[in-house]
Amino acid sequence: MKGYEQMQNQHIEALKRIVGTEHVLTSAEELHCYSYDATPGFSHMPDVVVIPGTTEEVAKVLALANSEKIPVYTRGSGTNLSAGTIPTKGGIVLLMTRMNQIIEIDTENLVAVAQPGVIVSDLNKAVETHGLIYPPDPGTVTTATLGGTVSENAGGLRGLKYGVTKHYVMGLEVVLASGQVMNVGGKNVKDVSGYDMTKLFTGAEGTLGVITKIIVKLVPAPEAKKSMMAIFKNLDNAGNSIAAIIAAKIIPATLEIMDNATIRTVEDYAKVGLPVDAEAVLLIEVDGIPEVVEKEAAKVLEVLTINKADEVRQAKDAAERDKIWAARRAALPALAKLRPTTFVEDATVPRNKVPEMIRAVNEIAKKYNVTIGTFGHAGDGNMHPTIVCDIRDEEEMSRVYKAMDEIFGTAIKLGGTLSGEHGIGLGKLKYMEDQFGPVAMEAMRNIKRALDPNLILNPGKLVGEC
Ligand SMILES: Cc1cc2nc3c(=O)[nH]c(=O)nc-3n(C[C@H](O)[C@H](O)[C@H](O)COP(=O)(O)OP(=O)(O)OC[C@H]3O[C@@H](n4cnc5c(N)ncnc54)[C@H](O)[C@@H]3O)c2cc1C
Repeated sequence: MKGYEQMQNQHIEALKRIVGTEHVLTSAEELHCYSYDATPGFSHMPDVVVIPGTTEEVAKVLALANSEKIPVYTRGSGTNLSAGTIPTKGGIVLLMTRMNQIIEIDTENLVAVAQPGVIVSDLNKAVETHGLIYPPDPGTVTTATLGGTVSENAGGLRGLKYGVTKHYVMGLEVVLASGQVMNVGGKNVKDVSGYDMTKLFTGAEGTLGVITKIIVKLVPAPEAKKSMMAIFKNLDNAGNSIAAIIAAKIIPATLEIMDNATIRTVEDYAKVGLPVDAEAVLLIEVDGIPEVVEKEAAKVLEVLTINKADEVRQAKDAAERDKIWAARRAALPALAKLRPTTFVEDATVPRNKVPEMIRAVNEIAKKYNVTIGTFGHAGDGNMHPTIVCDIRDEEEMSRVYKAMDEIFGTAIKLGGTLSGEHGIGLGKLKYMEDQFGPVAMEAMRNIKRALDPNLILNPGKLVGEC
């Protein structure tokens, strides 16, 4: 482990000279605001918060931090769920929200160029007027930054058909730990020159460099959408339906599942008419050209009927469609309302293992006497077992942490992965070797050491201490 320098007044003064006094925060109240993020159970005070306005300022801040061995924690909106922005060793929180300009919308190449502080939904609003969309849509689209979503390789509800953030990032400007600025990728649809550095920095969780400019791919907005809700008294029938829809060569834009615990909690909270005795509901949306959407919706209905859905509710208009998706959107707030603390996990399994995973999570909940609702992106196997508890209750938390260990162990045993979209950060670090083994872990640590030899960038996260 590196010995980091205690920050001194001279460092703070140097930072003020780089970004301007008003963009350096040092009061206890301000520092406290950046000592935690959306992940429960983690917090640590930074020494200073620095808010750069340009790539040059980022470069100067990193050059200073590197020469003085001061840790740097890059931060967008702090909505990550893996403790990715917690300044665990003090030092600098580098807040990217001032760099929030959409630089270009290029409708000939179907790309947008933006700074990392742009909020994802703002980019979508800007491109929508051109009949285009930027598909990655985490639940936090209205708050998360482009830089944060690229660094977490965020997913969302449309992942099944449209993929995740890495499928849209075409190029990046990155400031390395040394303060040197590097450009990788670009607007070319085909580009196989060199290592794929764009992909390396996408999902690197701020451990390899600071992203200061992002080139993303845009796609034409779908002309039509059709949504439906299928209700199942038997979880296996829901599982079979998921596999059968894909086997019928239909790729819905969205294919979501809620288990019984989630259904009951959502109904209690939002009163949207969910069947509280159902073992599972599937929420499905197909989109595209109107004629194709009609055909695909009819096929999905047929598959659901063959696979013994007990009821299918089809949205006839926009209001009914909104009602279906309001139920899904209510899942997390409804569960979160039950207890003071909410852990949203994202253990992910191959899609044919979804019922097995849900059943295992239910068993684990019983075994450790903890409350877990499971919902998530069934089509891509990305489950969100959501544990509600009280972090102040030590006895309960010891059961919660044991339950988490078993959930992640089960996902790996089923051929799954620790994270479908929330990243590793600190929260899931202890399971990384179980998934990757020592050789792959060492290869990843070598990449970290090569790009950040003084280990100043988000130290201790993703690959652990180097
Ligand atoms: C209620 C809720 C719902 C959510 N739903 C989803 C979902 O559906 N799908 C999903 O994928 N995620 C979801 N998330 C997680 C979260 O919104 C995403 O991880 C998002 O990508 C984080 O963006 P941010 O701007 O808040 O980044 P932050 O939390 O600020 O940072 C995230 C990581 O990126 C790094 N970072 C930030 N900016 C930069 C930069 N410019 N350069 C280098 N590194 C940087 C940070 O160091 C950190 O490691 C949800 C979170 C909540 C609280």
